[in-house]
Amino acid sequence: TTSRPLLKIAGLSSGYGRVGVLNAIDLEVDEREIVVILGPNGAGKTTLLNSISGVARATAGSIEFEGRDIVGSRPEQVVRMGLAHCPEGRQIFQRLTVEENLVAAHIGRGGKSFEVLRNDVFELFPILKERRNGMASRMSGGQQQMLAIGRALMAEPKLLMLDEPSLGLAPKIIQQIFRIILDLSTSGISILLVEQNVQLALECGDYAYLLNTGRVRLHGPAQELAEHSAISDHYLGGA
Ligand code: ATP
Repeated sequence: TTSRPLLKIAGLSSGYGRVGVLNAIDLEVDEREIVVILGPNGAGKTTLLNSISGVARATAGSIEFEGRDIVGSRPEQVVRMGLAHCPEGRQIFQRLTVEENLVAAHIGRGGKSFEVLRNDVFELFPILKERRNGMASRMSGGQQQMLAIGRALMAEPKLLMLDEPSLGLAPKIIQQIFRIILDLSTSGISILLVEQNVQLALECGDYAYLLNTGRVRLHGPAQELAEHSAISDHYLGGA
């Protein structure tokens, strides 16, 4: 049973209300894999993550997580299954402290206590430990991104979905976030990563999909996509 992908999406069409966004998407994430989703603004990357987490509505196709069809599940059910979503724009509780944000994200899924999980997050992001009693709104963008990832980790996910974690951050912080993503993957968490920082994402990812206008236009091992002319022309400024 180790050959079965952790996440298997087949023929997925979805959108919001009557607005169709995604068309016949096929995508897989294996255990311990980092899968990258690239594509221009409006391509449907966020909608894909929203469809998996039950925020956008699938109108056709299937989404199987550990062999179980999760289409129609609500976001809180999906996270209980082990699929955590760290949304674009972070959406942490600005008026709560760092620690209170972590408390609110502890759903008791995998059986680890709050203290154990919090300490894991503090080990990964020491700055969060330092600022634990500070208001989330007082932290920098990079620190807020770290808190957003920390919150997702409180659910003990098997698969972590990250929507543009590097958006608006300084290069040094971006490097730090990508190093953490690699560490999480090494620790056994699979990653589905939406990124606009194409070069870094393809360096860190195992496999990648290029979306445009709601469809998969290209997919392959990350290294192959990095060498593909359509990618390098559009995103890496190469020829
Ligand atoms: P970006 O990098 O700009 O976030 P994206 O690839 O993530 O791009 P999506 O956010 O998935 O793209 O948007 C895809 C399409 O869905 C766009 O045409 C957008 O206008 C539309 N859309 C997004 N959210 C909604 C919504 N809540 N209701 C209706 N349409 C939406």
